[in-house]
Amino acid sequence: MNLEKITTHTAIDIEIQSTTRSCIIGGVSLGNYAVAIDSGDSLEVGTKLRRDMEKHFQVPVKYLFLTHTHGDHRNGKDAFNDLTLIASKKCMQTMPKSVSFAKWKKEIFETNFILEEDSSSLEFHHVGGHSYGFSIAYYSTEEVLFAGDLFITQPVNFGLPFMGFYQNKPKRTGNPEEYLAAFDKFKEMKIEVIIPGHGRAITNPQEFLVEQTRFFKSLKSFFIAEIEDGKELEQIEMPRLKPIEEAYKDAESRKERSKAVRFLDNYVDWIKKSFFNFYSGKFFEVEDN
Ligand SMILES: [Zn+2]
Repeated sequence: MNLEKITTHTAIDIEIQSTTRSCIIGGVSLGNYAVAIDSGDSLEVGTKLRRDMEKHFQVPVKYLFLTHTHGDHRNGKDAFNDLTLIASKKCMQTMPKSVSFAKWKKEIFETNFILEEDSSSLEFHHVGGHSYGFSIAYYSTEEVLFAGDLFITQPVNFGLPFMGFYQNKPKRTGNPEEYLAAFDKFKEMKIEVIIPGHGRAITNPQEFLVEQTRFFKSLKSFFIAEIEDGKELEQIEMPRLKPIEEAYKDAESRKERSKAVRFLDNYVDWIKKSFFNFYSGKFFEVEDN
């Protein structure tokens, strides 16, 4: 069992990332039952999560919460298909056609939903940003935020956000304003630990949120200025802000240096496209394909 305790009633499986393409998976126990948060990248991973949670928390899993539609979070869902799905309405709207929840019991929420049990409560909030319909789970009782892919921390993807796949139809890149609004919302919450979608748990949440906000705000003002200057995407060079500078330093120190740098170039390009598209208004142009 890879599930490790975060607080008395929360646990996550970080290890799963080293053997599969899965995101961090885990869950919360509300005393009489548990809630799984994301299902991993395969049925096998989902099955293992459910079994591990029941062993760890000693209660049955009753709900599966999906933060968003991406496969590495959703592909293990069928291990939970006799349970109740919790997801945002927008998340369900953008689910690939091949993925069906027709026979599931569901709790679909517009902006938020709360599970309350005895004296503890688990909140779900739609925030967007990383993808259309993206939501977080917040266990206020023990101050744990399951922030999913809104955050990706080292050693995954050089600790930079993935903004390449907000929506498929129409194709859209990440929404930086939704990220910033989510950061503001999180700053109002009492948080001890943030569980990101990939990487490691964040144990300095306040400091981390300040850094993330600074990064996004710097990029925002940079792109607004470049766009006002009439620059096109190809003419813009990403500013070497601290997180990007550090990512390149890291990539250049890797054994497979050129491969790592190429990956990072591509990855940073998604961030660039997202900011450019959003602040030049392209995010809102609907292209049907
Ligand atoms: Zn994702």
